[in-house]
Amino acid sequence: MSAPSVENVVIIGTGCAGLTAAIYTGRANLSPLVLEGPLPGGQLTTTSEVENFPGFPHGVDGFQLMQNLREQATRFGTRFEQALVDRVDFTCQPRKLFAGDRVILARSVIIATGASPRMTGIPGEKELYGGKGVTTCATCDGAFYRKMDVAVIGGGDSAAEEALFLTRFASRVYLVHRRDTLRASKIMADRVTSHEKITCVWDSVPVSVEGVAEGAVSGLRVRHLKQGTEQVLAVKGIFVAIGHLPNTGPFAPPLEVDEQGYFKPAAGSAVRTHVPGVYVAGDCADHVYRQAITAAGMGCAAAIEAERWLAGHGG
Ligand code: NAP
Repeated sequence: MSAPSVENVVIIGTGCAGLTAAIYTGRANLSPLVLEGPLPGGQLTTTSEVENFPGFPHGVDGFQLMQNLREQATRFGTRFEQALVDRVDFTCQPRKLFAGDRVILARSVIIATGASPRMTGIPGEKELYGGKGVTTCATCDGAFYRKMDVAVIGGGDSAAEEALFLTRFASRVYLVHRRDTLRASKIMADRVTSHEKITCVWDSVPVSVEGVAEGAVSGLRVRHLKQGTEQVLAVKGIFVAIGHLPNTGPFAPPLEVDEQGYFKPAAGSAVRTHVPGVYVAGDCADHVYRQAITAAGMGCAAAIEAERWLAGHGG
């Protein structure tokens, strides 16, 4: 069997960061190979309208934006392949990426694997996830719950945003939070607590999702942490908004991550790692801004770094 060819640059991930890195490295004639994971296009494909991406005064559909980036990357010679990297060896050059039995060799690597929604893990959540009443995206699924009662779990800005968005459709939105104050920014918290359609269920944790036998959500059982009592909120939709988990597992170690699992870039750079020629970009390395445009900016920076590194190392 012939040895696999060595790629100039392999980009892992097809969200805003990965595709922007592909456009830049493609335009630099590096013929990038992009590895596509389980959610092609990343988190924006689960959003309807993106109103804050510069250059679209009337907003742009999230899925369409990602299609555009992909088309732009393809135009400059980007190749796409399905592969889920599960292990790396950065001790050698070229770097080795493993996806099951497959080995991919790369002089430089840009990791743009994003972050996935965190789930509660309560009984019934997994069974009724996706189309059966449990979801992580109000903008994608909110319209299915017209004139119904729904619950949002969480107390941060995401939960506040989801709850407020859902008031457009739902009759009542229960916001289930484990403390008695929201972590969300004051302006969002004020909007939530003063909204007539939102009922905050304070000091409460979700216990189970009801309706598994029927194959559709019929309620959310919650427990009051101070009183120890339980109640079932009779909701048809449950929106889990308790943060995200960065997709850094297969790369750490050898790469460094912080206590929440996000990549820790090398000092003085947002995208360089301590491994020469290996860069990180987007939500897997950013728990602060988490915006499409900041991810795209990091993808651009990582691409320029990779290009310069390759130029200095015979690429
Ligand atoms: P977050 O700020 O980490 O909030 C997560 C929430 O979920 C917290 O209230 C937390 O409770 C709760 N939680 C965590 N694990 C839980 C569990 N197992 N069971 C029940 N509740 C649980 O996450 P986020 O809301 O996704 O926001 C992440 C970052 O993005 C923040 O910096 C945020 O400001 C930013 N963001 C900004 C906007 C905006 O500005 N429009 C929108 C979305 C996100 P505790 O409070 O008790 O920890």
